[in-house]
Amino acid sequence: MDENGAVRVAIMGASGRMGRMLVRDVEESAEAQLVAAVVRPGHDWAGKDLGEAMGGAATGVPVWDDPVEAIRGADAILDFTTPAVSIETAALAAQARAVHVIGTTGFHGDDFAKLSAAARHAVIVRAGNMSLGVNLLVEITRQVSAALGTDFDVEIVETHHNRKVDAPSGTALMLGEAAAHGRGQELDTVADRGRDGITGPRDYGKIGFHAVRGGDIVGEHDVIFAGPGERVVLRHIASDRMIFARGALRAALWGQGKPPGEYTMASVLGLR
Ligand code: NAD
Repeated sequence: MDENGAVRVAIMGASGRMGRMLVRDVEESAEAQLVAAVVRPGHDWAGKDLGEAMGGAATGVPVWDDPVEAIRGADAILDFTTPAVSIETAALAAQARAVHVIGTTGFHGDDFAKLSAAARHAVIVRAGNMSLGVNLLVEITRQVSAALGTDFDVEIVETHHNRKVDAPSGTALMLGEAAAHGRGQELDTVADRGRDGITGPRDYGKIGFHAVRGGDIVGEHDVIFAGPGERVVLRHIASDRMIFARGALRAALWGQGKPPGEYTMASVLGLR
């Protein structure tokens, strides 16, 4: 904390779509103080004042392309970048005992073991979606799935802007996992990702994923439970990326003083 009791925050990927939102949100917060911004090595913001780099007045916040320097003295790191960057940052955050809030999606394989190793020394809050609405939807999806059972086919349709690089979205996977757990399944064994060609009839008990990409759509998710004679559709529509930034900052403040470990937004929001 700084001398005013504010949590000192560093932002990874500050020049990105989410990075810019995070900068705005932290600067508007009375409980947090932005102390450093990190951009990818060689980015033209590196070495500048963040406010000036963003086309405004100087703010006294330095932009680094070296995360080691930037993280020194931070109580929390907000990180919406790439899996490789977030894994590297997790190790640095663990050394610095800083709360690491990871919004990055697209992790796979042994990425999760590396994050767990870092979480032995510091708090990691990771969620494929940091918004209140989606995290509520996850809980509701689990309940609806438990009530309806496997006779209802679950299909998850996600829609995002044309720059998104991973599919299905992290949010779609969170929703799929909730639907699977709700009816006693493991998502890995029942996920059916994208159909093409002569696929034959739908496999009983599978959870289907479909990704739509176009324009500047922030993010939409439908969870469809299709049963005999009726259908339940749960929907979340994000229209402003600030919902993710606000969730991330809330997680950073919540994580202060918590024991090391991996946490989700459900814990931060008190949903579970
Ligand atoms: P983006 O491409 O606009 O931003 C990523 C930024 O990371 C870029 O500015 C890039 O230069 C920077 N970067 C790359 N390498 C770096 C390095 N070594 N050091 C520092 N910065 C580096 O993408 P985006 O739309 O902001 O999304 C970023 C991630 O966040 C994606 O994985 C996306 O799916 C995820 N996301 C999550 C949520 C959520 O609520 N969890 C919401 C929106 C986006």
